Amino acid sequence: MKKKQAVYEIVNPKLDSYHLLLNEALLHSANGYIGIRYDFEEGYPEGSKFDRSQYINGFYDFMETKQPEQLYGLVEKEQIMLNIADTQTIRLIIDGEEFSMFRGTLLESKLSLDMDKGINVRDVIWRSPNGKELHITITRMASFHQLSLFTIEYQIEPLNFSGDITIESGHDGDVSNYFEPEDPRINNKEIKKIFPISHEIVEGVSYITSRTSESGLEVCSCVKNILSKECQEGFIVNENYAICSLKTHANQGEKIILLKYAVFSDSIRFSNCRNQVSLEMEAALSVPIEELYKKQEEYLADYWENCNVEIEGDDELNSELQYNLYQLIQSVGKDQHCNIAPRGLSGDEYEGQYFWDSEVYVQPFFTITNPSISRKLIEYRYETLNMARENARILGHSQGALYPWRTIMGRECSGYFPSGSAQYHINGDIAYSIIAYYLATKDMAFIQEKGAEIIFETARIWINTGNFYKGKFNINDVTGPNEYSCIVNNNYYTNALAKYHMNWAVKLYYLLKESEDFDKLVEKIELKEEEIESFKKAAENMYLPYDKELKINPQDDSFLQKRKWDIDSIPKNKFPLFLNYHPLHLYRHQICKQADTVLAHFILEDTQSEETMLNSFNYYEKITTHDSSLSRCIFSIMAARLGMEEKAFEYFQDSDKLDLVDFYKNTNDGIHIANMAGIYMAIVYGFGGFRLKKSGISFAPILPKEWSGYRFKICFEDSRIMVIIKKNECIFNLEHGSAKKILVYGREYLLEERLVINDNEL
Ligand code: BGC
Repeated sequence: MKKKQAVYEIVNPKLDSYHLLLNEALLHSANGYIGIRYDFEEGYPEGSKFDRSQYINGFYDFMETKQPEQLYGLVEKEQIMLNIADTQTIRLIIDGEEFSMFRGTLLESKLSLDMDKGINVRDVIWRSPNGKELHITITRMASFHQLSLFTIEYQIEPLNFSGDITIESGHDGDVSNYFEPEDPRINNKEIKKIFPISHEIVEGVSYITSRTSESGLEVCSCVKNILSKECQEGFIVNENYAICSLKTHANQGEKIILLKYAVFSDSIRFSNCRNQVSLEMEAALSVPIEELYKKQEEYLADYWENCNVEIEGDDELNSELQYNLYQLIQSVGKDQHCNIAPRGLSGDEYEGQYFWDSEVYVQPFFTITNPSISRKLIEYRYETLNMARENARILGHSQGALYPWRTIMGRECSGYFPSGSAQYHINGDIAYSIIAYYLATKDMAFIQEKGAEIIFETARIWINTGNFYKGKFNINDVTGPNEYSCIVNNNYYTNALAKYHMNWAVKLYYLLKESEDFDKLVEKIELKEEEIESFKKAAENMYLPYDKELKINPQDDSFLQKRKWDIDSIPKNKFPLFLNYHPLHLYRHQICKQADTVLAHFILEDTQSEETMLNSFNYYEKITTHDSSLSRCIFSIMAARLGMEEKAFEYFQDSDKLDLVDFYKNTNDGIHIANMAGIYMAIVYGFGGFRLKKSGISFAPILPKEWSGYRFKICFEDSRIMVIIKKNECIFNLEHGSAKKILVYGREYLLEERLVINDNEL
């Protein structure tokens, strides 16, 4: 199958502040290490609103968290992702007139993102106020091949004149984080946490090293400008910035190209980031830019080869899906020092901190399409395991590790603990993702080396938090995924996940017991056989709330006692509720911000009967506002699972282009990563009915009536399987690897090369 070309285009982009901010996020360039919001290089007129930011994944400073009461253990400092030196600026002056999208006449203008080539392009034909016409093409790339590298290729072609041009290319260390006084979801006051400490120009290359105020981390950026034509070059510098000025004469019809290379390094990854950027710049300049573009394309060809999803005959939907998947590879961290933030590297809402979104929404995608990335995400958790141990002690647990609800470098950042630190399910989410990685890859060496330690240490927290009451294991005073019900007893999602987690801790213990080096781990974490017994006992006797009359799983012990609140009676302008109602008001109602029990039924479907899952779906559907972007995709998956195809499709449609239509009116602060991965899940796990379990992989595809067919791929163990769903048949092609047993609609088949299952066989 040849993938359709993936390009997202905006012709004649609107230039008001709303669209400038939105496009900054939608068209940002990132590679998992660096992220650069999409700004016009030449800047904007005074009065425009924009957030010209660049980030390094995992690069942070501390910021005070204001707590009204000094209670023990509350977070005093959080970590925030910092805006680092600006390397985007390029001003163009033609015979004294400066190019601007806001002056003169735009004869043609188009912004595009090419997701096969991994570049974005601004293509403009501009007439200056004095009538000079220019064709300007600006190509930007955050290189996947060399993660430190961001390039801008700036091409100028005078169309109706010859004249003098001056280019001023900036490198500015005087930066602060964006703030917006009117939006409570993001910073509302200026945050300036990073300051240049050294500044050099060496052989035409500018270097700026900056240090953060509190974490003491350093970042170094270096910039080189190369003009295709002979020019007069000079620098304008002060202690914060360097402007490289290039003057030349341009002839009508002649294309002049400025290549701007910017590389970044930080002291989290390198002890001497100043030296590192020199090496990185040398590497970038050692090959022609075409070679870098080629490598970018090759990287993406490989990516798409493993993960592309295609809906037959719906090109528009296909490009939306590709847009989503492209953002996932742009955003996901590629080393153990970082992870994937809810807004990726496209904006700093949530301060660039990492949440459970990574394990429950994003990892299911990577685990079955690109497991080495999943492994990196787990390595990040391993890297911060000691801090999770410290966090557990702060919360009063004498043993084990409790991962923070939100964090960058490993310490808890939740300012408001009821819907933050109390979400103990994060431990289960992480364990769940490690188990899924194991099930998909059977990479036991990695489990032995890192995964098992996390699973045992995090499982200990359940024993330490819960207790037996009337013969059942209860977990009290935690918060489940629904942040509109906080600090509750026996949240169904948490308990079901804890049961699964502890069962796996037991399984892994016996699987690993005889293996070499297991003693070392047992000794290191002082794991006792009695503990394994206690996991077993707690899991076997886990209390899972069930209501006999309604035949549903109540979200927690007190949920059904609460007052009901008819969602239709709430004025439309009161959504999202968390911006308009006091938390206590929300907590006292049966109202859900997002999928909670319904999510548990998806990821742990074997825990309950079909009847309970169906009744629960119907019950929670009426009381869920989907104020979180993590919700609709899960309702789509469960609707598909429970035979409600139309509903599944409606939920899917509601959020497949969530960012492209700015559904939540906050995409300007960053794209919604969990939803993007959730949409993938809605196709593969929802319509495709794919499941990954200890017993193997299974499919139960349905075809939405709006589609004539669809296809996706699954990497499982050593194999890659292409799944093609058509009206009366489904086809499984083994693209490479050994034969696999697969379950289709509950029946076992051996997939050797190609398996065609048609209606008559079912
Ligand atoms: C959701 C959380 C989520 C966070 C970051 C919140 O609105 O309720 O579940 O982890 O956003 O995406």
